[in-house]
Amino acid sequence: MVSRGQIAFDLPEFDDGPDLASYRWILANISGGKDSAAMLYELVRQADAAGVPRDRIVCVHAALGRAEWEGTRELAAEHAAAYGLRFEVVARTGADLVDRIAERGMFPDASNRWCTSDFKRGPVRRLMTSLVREAQDGGHLGRVRLLNVMGLRADESPARRRLLAFSHDGALTCPCQNCMLRRAALESAERRGVPCPKDKKPGHGASNTVRHVDTWHPVHAWSTDDVWSAVARSGLRPHPAYAAGMPRLSCSFCVLASRPALIRAAQLRPALAAEYAAIEAKTGHRFQNDLSMAEIIAEAERTKVATIPCWEG
Ligand code: SF4
Repeated sequence: MVSRGQIAFDLPEFDDGPDLASYRWILANISGGKDSAAMLYELVRQADAAGVPRDRIVCVHAALGRAEWEGTRELAAEHAAAYGLRFEVVARTGADLVDRIAERGMFPDASNRWCTSDFKRGPVRRLMTSLVREAQDGGHLGRVRLLNVMGLRADESPARRRLLAFSHDGALTCPCQNCMLRRAALESAERRGVPCPKDKKPGHGASNTVRHVDTWHPVHAWSTDDVWSAVARSGLRPHPAYAAGMPRLSCSFCVLASRPALIRAAQLRPALAAEYAAIEAKTGHRFQNDLSMAEIIAEAERTKVATIPCWEG
């Protein structure tokens, strides 16, 4: 089953992945973590082989504020600079993620990941808007083709396993043939007063009348070992949080993280853990439904570091 909102390409020539040279912009989403470092290595390797000029590749880091591990933004900049790539930082306007959780009086969770939509997807789409304008100012005529590249992997979770490695980021206002067919199916269902099947509906993606956006996960099929060996080959510096025992980078305290990972993070960042616990105490909303930050802190104080499995997110 394909993840909701993704639009598969029906044409056989798309089976092998994107034609990199056909995009005006290639947007590499980099967090400073191992998966995005491996993704960047693989993207640059394939882009070089396809003869794509490096000034078409833009690295983007979505900044979350103090919820992130210290130094991730600087490390992401270092990763981009290693390949001589342009580096942009985007962020939500206003409060950072920790302050926003306090403002809303609730933590995000698996079914309501407003952290991702507000702090990553939204700001990255604003960058797409300015890149389109930049291309138009430079004389580009017609819709601007943009490839959004991320380091998500099937191994990470069932939800990520369902993602297509390459898909169209379709939307109601996208005039491409795929989206037109879906719009027609939706209109027909509405006329007949019947529900339109989810896999036939237009998506809520980033494409619109001025930009055609596709999404690519070049390391989707890679294992964790594949990722680490690509990072070793790339020469890119991994974040010290890995050596300290964290299996993933992301937010220091991700609402989707496993209990052992959260306990280790609380040992490494006790001040931030205390901030989350204070938000819990003030709002009465727990960090995870069945695990409070107060419990995480208490366990961090009496636990030794053990092997930490990855978590599903
Ligand atoms: S790492 Fe976790 S908490 Fe942070 S933005 Fe992503 S899903 Fe939300």
